[in-house]
Amino acid sequence: MNIHEYQAKQLLKGYGAPVAEGVAIFSADEAEAAAKSLPGPLYVVKSQIHAGGRGKGKFTELGPDAKGGVRLAFSVEEAVAHAKEMLGNTLVTAQTGEAGKQVNRLYIEDGADIERELYLSLLVDRSTGKVAFVASTEGGMDIEAVAEHTPEKILTLPIDPATGVTDADADKLASSLELAGKSADQAKGVFKLLYKAFVEKDMSLLEINPFIVMKNGDVRVLDAKVSFDGNALFRHPDVVELRDLTEEDEKEIEASKWDLAYVALDGNIGCMVNGAGLAMATMDIIKLYGAEPANFLDVGGGASKEKVTAAFKIITADPAVKGILVNIFGGIMRCDVIAEGVIAAVKDVGLNVPLVVRLEGTRVAEGKKIIDESGLNVISADDLDDAAQKIVAAVNG
Ligand code: GDP
Ligand code: MG
Repeated sequence: MNIHEYQAKQLLKGYGAPVAEGVAIFSADEAEAAAKSLPGPLYVVKSQIHAGGRGKGKFTELGPDAKGGVRLAFSVEEAVAHAKEMLGNTLVTAQTGEAGKQVNRLYIEDGADIERELYLSLLVDRSTGKVAFVASTEGGMDIEAVAEHTPEKILTLPIDPATGVTDADADKLASSLELAGKSADQAKGVFKLLYKAFVEKDMSLLEINPFIVMKNGDVRVLDAKVSFDGNALFRHPDVVELRDLTEEDEKEIEASKWDLAYVALDGNIGCMVNGAGLAMATMDIIKLYGAEPANFLDVGGGASKEKVTAAFKIITADPAVKGILVNIFGGIMRCDVIAEGVIAAVKDVGLNVPLVVRLEGTRVAEGKKIIDESGLNVISADDLDDAAQKIVAAVNG
């Protein structure tokens, strides 16, 4: 689960992180009061969407010459003018996809006098099984290019969970960021509190880009992107409250209600599979035969008839879906029970696209018989290879 920048900053401020004063607004009417409450003379008007690259982003409705999604203003009037122009319009950034995201919230912030822009993030490093810092002197809006062309400028520092961030770790990070004097002292405190926040709140990503040194030598968290581990959200009702459903895919929201692991993708073959590994293999084989999956969907081990129906509704609600592949391995579940669930779901939801069902495992013969005798336009398949070829052929021809 992701949250907005202003929410992330509020959260980090609670841990003692240095962030600018700022006010989140939902309508242009609020812009003037928000800006006036800040010290000035520099204001920053920032689009709040769940995607990065806002500074270099473009507003679809405003034409190619309009300013981006993060704008500096040198007076209250200018800040208000920016707010009016930005709110309600669609921002396209390198991370939003072509459709962009509508800007429904802005964050008006006290502007900083920037000396240096650094990169700092925390993530779960799966190769070491530890939380790791990633740091670079080359912060700002082009970190992706740095990672691609000059990866030696990026330091990855895994943290021992038994000790947390040690003084030696903090020294190493500060020196790799070429920080000295009071900037280094402040930064070392920030490293420790960021790690604490990351672990306590079960984050999966905490990215500060840029982490800045100001002209006066103070450091500040200028941008903050936080993702939380969805499996740990039950421990954090305060975090769940920050969820902005307008930023999430409707189908994914519906899927989460049914405890279905669902990720919307760009292809046209809807997939319903049990088990994440089998779901991955199913997507791979669809690609192997020249088509693209419309989604990842793992109905889980104990897929009930209700769950199968909900999964069907989610898949068929996607207008891009031109065919469906159901691939179920009956281990603990019996194939005949699953077949009955699929037939019931099809009768309930209706079916306007070809459906291929591949069953394997316990009572597979009975399951196939039920599908063959259902009278519904369901194509039965012998194995995964056969199933993938049949659905790709049905969709393409
Ligand atoms: P992003 O483009 O979505 O990553 O948004 P950021 O919050 O990182 O802002 C983009 C860029 O705007 C930063 O890299 C800075 O160069 C600039 N910027 C943001 N806030 C300030 C500020 O307070 N003062 C100044 N001078 N520039 C800022
Ligand atoms: Mg940024």
